[in-house]
Amino acid sequence: MLTIDGSRGEGGGQILRSALALSLVTETPFRIINIRRRRSKPGLMRQHLAAVHAAMNVGAAEVNGDQLGSRELVFRPTTIRSGNYRFSIGSAGSCTLVLQTVLPALCLAPGPSDIELEGGTHNPFAPPFDFVADAFLPLLERMGPGISAKLIQPGFYPAGGGKIRVHIEPTPRLVPVDLQRRGKILDYRACAMIANLPRHIAERELRTVAQSLGWDPQHLCIEEVAHAQGPGNVLSLKIISEYVTEVFTGFGERRVTAEQVAQRVCKQTRAYMSAQVPIGSHLADQLLLPMALAGGGSFRTMPPSSHSRTNIEVIRSFLPVDVHIVQIENKQWEIRITKNEEGCL
Ligand code: ATP
Repeated sequence: MLTIDGSRGEGGGQILRSALALSLVTETPFRIINIRRRRSKPGLMRQHLAAVHAAMNVGAAEVNGDQLGSRELVFRPTTIRSGNYRFSIGSAGSCTLVLQTVLPALCLAPGPSDIELEGGTHNPFAPPFDFVADAFLPLLERMGPGISAKLIQPGFYPAGGGKIRVHIEPTPRLVPVDLQRRGKILDYRACAMIANLPRHIAERELRTVAQSLGWDPQHLCIEEVAHAQGPGNVLSLKIISEYVTEVFTGFGERRVTAEQVAQRVCKQTRAYMSAQVPIGSHLADQLLLPMALAGGGSFRTMPPSSHSRTNIEVIRSFLPVDVHIVQIENKQWEIRITKNEEGCL
């Protein structure tokens, strides 16, 4: 049986999620050892367990080791089942990371699916809903499936209580795409979301964005979230270009000023704009897996993160693909995925 070592590279939860996603699609059973070995609390935490159980449902899988704290797991999928699913992640575990685990399989399932996910929708260290809906899903749709995602209720760490609904029209196979150009910047927007917190936090964040990036007031908005279960503050900057939309996010934290939160996001956004590439680091990370499933594709991006490199290792354990990483210019890199005709398993 294929064994994945969860302590390789980043040594975090992404190794598990990517392995589950790939196992479902390729119908390859696997054992993972040393789960999240490089994290301060290694092993399966509640949100990882939620991802395992979601994958188990979708793939009618047999699983051993699915307990909290477990550092080893065996996953044997049978067939992908489309249909209606409801995954409640508990606490403020990230809805989008559970979605990331089952989405590739449901995009290639025999019929359409509707998923409802409950938990956190805007968590630090996870793709925020706006990033998924505006940046990632439109690119995934270009590979074939039809996907619509709706934010029913935002949920913030640590209280959670958010809800997302996703509808998926599958495709028989994912088709390769090449994302080499960003094209002209058509529009840009900054949205400061606040829940159960003073409005001046959002105002100060947007003032900082306006000063730092020179954005006019018509590009700035405040969204006050009603019925949130706890406090929350998220600043999203969206760059809408001809061929791609990117989203950069900052999260309000205790003991970090609104100005600092905004400066951090402005820094990421400025780095993206000056690199003149279509794909930022997080998007790069998340495109690797569907592109590998498509058997090819390429994109221009910023320096590949260690997270991306770890993801590539996991992908190559399941799929016969080669991933070529080439530095094109000072700030531009190209990642190209090709079929490896000799296979890798
Ligand atoms: P864990 O902390 O559970 O062990 P991990 O360390 O492997 O998991 P992270 O490195 O935190 O996980 O990343 C999880 C995923 O969330 C990755 O796919 C990453 O690209 C994505 N992600 C994190 N932050 C953002 C963000 N601000 N915007 C978009 N995606 C993000």
